Amino acid sequence: MNKRQPAVKHRHGTLLASNLRLLYNLFTYRIAVMDRDPMPRLLQRGTPIVPTAKVSTVKFLSEGVFELVLERDGVGFRPGDCVAISNSDGVSRPYSVSSSIDEPYLRFVIRRMPGGAVSEWLAVRAPGDEVEISLPFGWFRPGQSGEPGDPSVLVATGTGIAPFLSALRSFPDFSPVLCLYGVRCLADAVGLDYLRGRCPLKLCVSREEAPPHHHGRITDLLNEIPRNEETNYYLCGLDAMINGVSEWLEHRGVHFTHIHREVFFNAREDQ
Ligand SMILES: Cc1cc2nc3c(=O)[nH]c(=O)nc-3n(C[C@H](O)[C@H](O)[C@H](O)COP(=O)(O)OP(=O)(O)OC[C@H]3O[C@@H](n4cnc5c(N)ncnc54)[C@H](O)[C@@H]3O)c2cc1C
Repeated sequence: MNKRQPAVKHRHGTLLASNLRLLYNLFTYRIAVMDRDPMPRLLQRGTPIVPTAKVSTVKFLSEGVFELVLERDGVGFRPGDCVAISNSDGVSRPYSVSSSIDEPYLRFVIRRMPGGAVSEWLAVRAPGDEVEISLPFGWFRPGQSGEPGDPSVLVATGTGIAPFLSALRSFPDFSPVLCLYGVRCLADAVGLDYLRGRCPLKLCVSREEAPPHHHGRITDLLNEIPRNEETNYYLCGLDAMINGVSEWLEHRGVHFTHIHREVFFNAREDQ
């Protein structure tokens, strides 16, 4: 009998064999995909479920804001993704990746919160320290909604600029029509020259005068936001800003599916 011909009396065995082959094919396909997309490599046998990353640098950009740089070690992510980083007590907080998908590092822009369980701990890490991280995750996708080439408006407060930096650094063709960026002090503004080179930028500084920048909040400049049906609006940072800007846009006819939000801190829950 032709060995390739399935024998009726061994139907179950043959089915089992073909199922096993299917599983094997799926498995090898998965391994092939894993080799191309480095992120799932972390899930391969022998790798701890909770991966760790080595600190490359911690650099203070101003008194209260620092850049944490971790060795990437093959971790894959999409611009807009966060990584949950844990302190030595296992307390974790999400932080948005600010680096490009092409860099060998994972960079984060972090505000040091006085008394903060994780940000204070991260602020005093040294090169070579290991930190526990989650795999990158998220649903906020700056510049990745709608049709390619649809206009985008970016609105950020404080470290909420991080996912926008990641998108701009990752996608050279991404050209937002406006970036509205609010900070407390001029020194807290991250990547100003880079942002200016990539898109029209309006900086709002709320707690000091810093001409020629606007002295006040983002919500003072809402009339400068271009509005049309194709535009996608990406809002990131504090809930008060995000709610204010969303309401303003919706009242002016912007459909809610074009308003994308990433809330870093919910002041209302904290009251
Ligand atoms: C999806 C997501 C992405 C995030 N990405 C970033 C990021 O890229 N960079 C970044 O700096 N943060 C980011 N955050 C906020 C971050 O996760 C932590 O909440 C923040 O670092 C404070 O954590 P902590 O443990 O230091 O302070 P906690 O111990 O949680 O809090 C200490 C005190 O500070 C208050 N507090 C905490 N955060 C704020 C705030 N922003 N404003 C005012 N008061 C506050 C708390 O209510 C508390 O009283 C993100 C949050 C989310 C949900």
